Amino acid sequence: MRKINIGVAAAALIMLGAVTNIRAANEKIVVVAAENFYGDVAQQIGGDTVSVTSVLSSPDQDPHLFETSPSVVRGLAAAQVVIENGAQYDPWMDGLLKAAPKPGRVVIMAADLMHKKAGDNPHLWYDPATMPALAKAVAAAFTAADPAHSDRYDAQLNSFLASLRPMNDKIATIRNKYAGLPVTATEPVFGYMAAALRLTMLNQRFQLAVMNNTEPSASDVGAFERDLERHNARIMFYNKQASDRVVQHMVDLAHKSNVPVVGVTETTPPGLSYQDWMLTQLEATEKALAGNP
Ligand SMILES: [Zn+2]
Repeated sequence: MRKINIGVAAAALIMLGAVTNIRAANEKIVVVAAENFYGDVAQQIGGDTVSVTSVLSSPDQDPHLFETSPSVVRGLAAAQVVIENGAQYDPWMDGLLKAAPKPGRVVIMAADLMHKKAGDNPHLWYDPATMPALAKAVAAAFTAADPAHSDRYDAQLNSFLASLRPMNDKIATIRNKYAGLPVTATEPVFGYMAAALRLTMLNQRFQLAVMNNTEPSASDVGAFERDLERHNARIMFYNKQASDRVVQHMVDLAHKSNVPVVGVTETTPPGLSYQDWMLTQLEATEKALAGNP
């Protein structure tokens, strides 16, 4: 499901090593984030003294099926700060970084910060505790790379942390009203956020099968169908970025059974900040729950 030719990538990285050293005079901190939500946060904390590139950013792409490209290899060769998710979400990053060791390069991994490992739900950015931890690690890396601007990184970190307030307020509102309600999902994308809302998540085995691109078992499909038809699940989360036949079947069945469907995405849609993206999805969740309490 994730294919990468490490040999070719490594050769390209080694050739690019020389180029990287020549452009070291560039005063901006060069940052590569594996996913655009981490890149967005790095940009908010770094402001105009950092240059950020995000690898996964297309809303039409299923990140679980990503294959790397030469431009990713080039970007990583120059990066002083690298941000990745870990927990097997972006394993192609590790291969590329190992192939091109760069002295002084800082690699920040969300999974390490959150004490998660391979096999855990990898959608860590939906855990409201992840971005504050990541933002602090990013600010520390920027300060170490560019101590002259440490006040600026401090201030931008603080304003980022403060900007999470509407999201956290919305989480508290939904939790106070709907804690314990059973919900379902086609994939575990929204899982950590649903847990923060204290919603009871049904059909987790089905979700893992879909995430791993395997066929859910007939009995898991049957249990999911019953939860929709009998309204055991009050709402259904649906990953808009990774659809297939069995997922589309559940979306259709949810509509037919009058179970509200909330579309969520893996990566940040174009034009939205991380904060606005989360808030938009929380508002959609609140609206759906209000429609089927
Ligand atoms: Zn996913």
